[in-house]
Amino acid sequence: AQLDTLDLVVLVALLVGSIAYFTKGTYWAVPKDPYASSAPLNGVAKSGKTRNILEKMDETGKNCVIFYGSQTGTAEDYASRLAKEGSQRFGLKTMVADIEDYDYDNLDQFPEDKVAFFVLATYGEGEPTDNAVEFYQFLTGDDVAFESGASADASPLSSLKYVAFGLGNNTYEHYNAMVRQVDAALTRLGATRIGSAGEGDDGAGTMEEDFLAWKEPMWTALSESLGLQERESVYEPVFNILEEDDKSPDDEPCQGPYSAQNPFIAPIVESKELFTVKDRNCLHMEISIADSNLSYQTGDHIAIWPTNAGLEVDRFLQVFGLADKRDTVISIKGIDVTAKVPIPTPTTYDAAVRYYMEVCAPVSRQFVSSLAAFAPDEQSKAELVRLGSDKDYFHEKISEKCFNIAQALQSITSQTFSAVPFSLLIEGLNKLQPRYYSISSSSLVQKDKISITAVVESVRLPGASHVVKGVTTNYLLALKQKQNGEPNPDPHGLTYSINGPRNKYDGIHVPVHVRHSNFKLPSDPAKPIIMVGPGTGVAPFRGFIQERAALAAKGEKVGTTVLFFGCRKQDEDFIYQDEFKKYQEQMGDSLKIITAFSREGPQKVYVQHRLKENAPFVSDLLKNKANFYVCGDAANMAREVNVVLGHIIAEQRGMPAEKGEEMVKHMRSSGSYQEDVW
Ligand code: FAD
Repeated sequence: AQLDTLDLVVLVALLVGSIAYFTKGTYWAVPKDPYASSAPLNGVAKSGKTRNILEKMDETGKNCVIFYGSQTGTAEDYASRLAKEGSQRFGLKTMVADIEDYDYDNLDQFPEDKVAFFVLATYGEGEPTDNAVEFYQFLTGDDVAFESGASADASPLSSLKYVAFGLGNNTYEHYNAMVRQVDAALTRLGATRIGSAGEGDDGAGTMEEDFLAWKEPMWTALSESLGLQERESVYEPVFNILEEDDKSPDDEPCQGPYSAQNPFIAPIVESKELFTVKDRNCLHMEISIADSNLSYQTGDHIAIWPTNAGLEVDRFLQVFGLADKRDTVISIKGIDVTAKVPIPTPTTYDAAVRYYMEVCAPVSRQFVSSLAAFAPDEQSKAELVRLGSDKDYFHEKISEKCFNIAQALQSITSQTFSAVPFSLLIEGLNKLQPRYYSISSSSLVQKDKISITAVVESVRLPGASHVVKGVTTNYLLALKQKQNGEPNPDPHGLTYSINGPRNKYDGIHVPVHVRHSNFKLPSDPAKPIIMVGPGTGVAPFRGFIQERAALAAKGEKVGTTVLFFGCRKQDEDFIYQDEFKKYQEQMGDSLKIITAFSREGPQKVYVQHRLKENAPFVSDLLKNKANFYVCGDAANMAREVNVVLGHIIAEQRGMPAEKGEEMVKHMRSSGSYQEDVW
């Protein structure tokens, strides 16, 4: 019998329905993660959103776009703050934009009466953040070409007015390289910068104050340039928070592919303590990435998404008067179409704070002053205003004591700040960031299992009345204790909701993604290598040694492998010493471990000293084309090792000191000197 059109429609509908039912949504479910950014697809993002910023600004009536290049979320946070301030104080129509969400080849058509901000963090060795790589390459490339066909020689960006702020760290050689180079490129292409190109320094710990000091003259210059009038700023929420008792929290399971936007909930298959002392902890964990699309290579990083400690979640909810309704279901919606909601919604106050907001971090002075309008009484209000406007007073009362936001407010009054809109808390605090760990296993040896080596942060800083506890490492410690059936011995009462939002992490799971790095073994294993990795800086080198031992066991020729390792005492924190012994048995003389124990003798001895003592050996290896690797502390150790190596080269080869320094620079640019530092 012939089928007529109606039959066909019914049949197709039934077929689609059955597929949908039997696959339980696997084929059509899109991850609900609101961070998910969309890959480019001919000017239109996968989500159907435009990649044309001019079109987007026109559609949404904006005259100011704030692009951010962010790795750890700080640049993104500053971008949001500038957007808010521009809108509230100067009536600008602002939007915040992830720089990878838009195309750049039409910036030559950017209207003169609008302005673009670039808030750009520098990552690692002067590199752009992951989301700014393409923008950076486009702008600084030799053959930059814009849509109109104009090339670099013709001042194609003459109509573009821009503002620039960089986030950097002066302990790295290429300090704030991103903002400096982007600023130079924009100027070269004819764009006009408003105000100075700001530079914040995380290395000196002055990021926030650098930002605050830079932005005031910038706003003055921008007001003059665009003819803006400053007005009394009144708080306008960015998000609408709807309490909805009839809804249940979002329970859509996460689907692959897994990435920085959509972490994989990975099982921790093994965990143990590496230190033998009681008062400090260093964790070794094995995280399985089998059954995910994730893969890694020796030397890569794994990102771990933490959960806040119960104690701090309780404190935060109590201080903001949310404790009684912590389990109320809320929907969070951007009031403006360009506002990205940073939390999967619907959710609850408890889950939002516990899993998605950085509530334990150092406090921003600007944020404290924005709370003044919602203070519970006049006295607290006056105190918040003073803290917001007096840098030294703020330092003495808040920063120096290492308070988080709830602790800071508790130090002012015992009253609750229940008038503070929840939107303001979402806007003012960073979203909870993943922390990176150098993978301490070899992908050749265990391709589906990633090892990490993490020291637990627990610091009583001078002047602080409490112990500052690292968010991620204490969470991992709790997971290790749960896994091994140990009681929770934390003397500060940290507890965790180990099952995660909607029980997603049940059974010792942790959300992760992998970040590929350039920190790599030479492709020819016969090449010698020198590794300098004191403390947890040894992490990637455990992976390197594991890999070279496996290659040697397979009969491959493996070059001399030298590790300089340092810690306090051999019997306290010499991590992996038994393993290293085993590898030495396998590899014989080709593996050398040179140790520096800083607290065993009358003099403190560090890896730098051992390097110096072994100068002829090091120099010979370098002559034999050894790769040189440094991992761990960026502020002191890595810098000193760099200097010492320059001296060794100069001395051993009879060159002037500057020549030695130059050789190290050359090694860096040619990739034979590699750093993995934090
Ligand atoms: P956080 O909560 O992030 O706190 C970090 C520090 O900030 C604290 O110790 C404290 O000094 C300070 N702090 C926190 N809150 C406050 C406050 N309210 N006021 C003042 N100060 C405060 N670490 C390893 O152990 N092993 C590795 O292999 C490793 N590899 C890394 C590789 C890379 C590329 C990078 C970038 C980092 C790496 N790290 C590694 C460091 C790691 O990412 C984390 O920074 C570290 O584990 C601390 O994380 P946390 O969440 O426990 O601490």
